[in-house]
Amino acid sequence: MEKRNLRGSTFFFPGKVNVGCFEKGEDVWLVDSGLDDDAGRKLARFIESENKRLRCIVGTHSNADHCGGNAFLRKRTGCAVAATPLEAAIMEYSFMEPLMLWSAFPFAEISNRFLQAKPSSVDILIRSPGVFDESGLEAIPLPGHFLEMIGVRTPDDVFFVADAIFSEALLEKYHIIFVLDVQSALDTLAFLERQEAAWFVPSHAQATEDIRPLAEANRKSLLRVSEAVLECCSEPVGKDEIVRRVGVRFGLSMSITEFLLNSAAIAAHLTWLRKNALLAPVVENGLLLWKRSS
Ligand SMILES: [Zn+2]
Repeated sequence: MEKRNLRGSTFFFPGKVNVGCFEKGEDVWLVDSGLDDDAGRKLARFIESENKRLRCIVGTHSNADHCGGNAFLRKRTGCAVAATPLEAAIMEYSFMEPLMLWSAFPFAEISNRFLQAKPSSVDILIRSPGVFDESGLEAIPLPGHFLEMIGVRTPDDVFFVADAIFSEALLEKYHIIFVLDVQSALDTLAFLERQEAAWFVPSHAQATEDIRPLAEANRKSLLRVSEAVLECCSEPVGKDEIVRRVGVRFGLSMSITEFLLNSAAIAAHLTWLRKNALLAPVVENGLLLWKRSS
């Protein structure tokens, strides 16, 4: 495990999910905690080896790859966890994450650690933007990707932007990027382009001093999926068939988990296209279909 300094007392642990780290004297604040117990254990050992104390995990959102280490770290170190109310609800009742994707209690194949973190309590509810404790860390709303995601800005002018931005490599690999609200995600990208910071640290991309090119790539990716969905609806089509068609178009092979993640993202695009009066839902022969309205 490697800890990289960005500026002043702000560090991060690079990995599949970048974990942020802010130090104040002996005390450590983390931004997210990684996927599981194992990730939590590595972080705990590292912090202990430096004779520091984990004070708090600031959870950007409740996707398992970001909060899966919370339960272990809370138990081992007695640290607090801070999160927004809706994200806290899923951290505490983590079966809600696969439930959201399937819209019923999850079946075996989707009850896995990638979709469902170990449940863990949240101690500090972040109800409004800005500073939420004595660390001086600021919570900044970054809506769109999940229910109530936040980024975290440190007093060293480092901005952890969570899953508002993905790397170009991931955009190319997955094509359909998880999103719950397309308009909010686009607004968040525009917001990030207007921000100044010494460093921007996405969870799934390298730290960068200029977020604009990546924000633009992420915007293009979202719009490409919306366009693909719209083009699939030359005649009335159901959502599963749209997922299949968009998948073929991008050359994707999908596991059950990937199908459900893509299906949820495509549902968000359908909502957005409906909002823009480009598609309309209709029930025909017992199927909910989407047809072009212009
Ligand atoms: Zn993530």
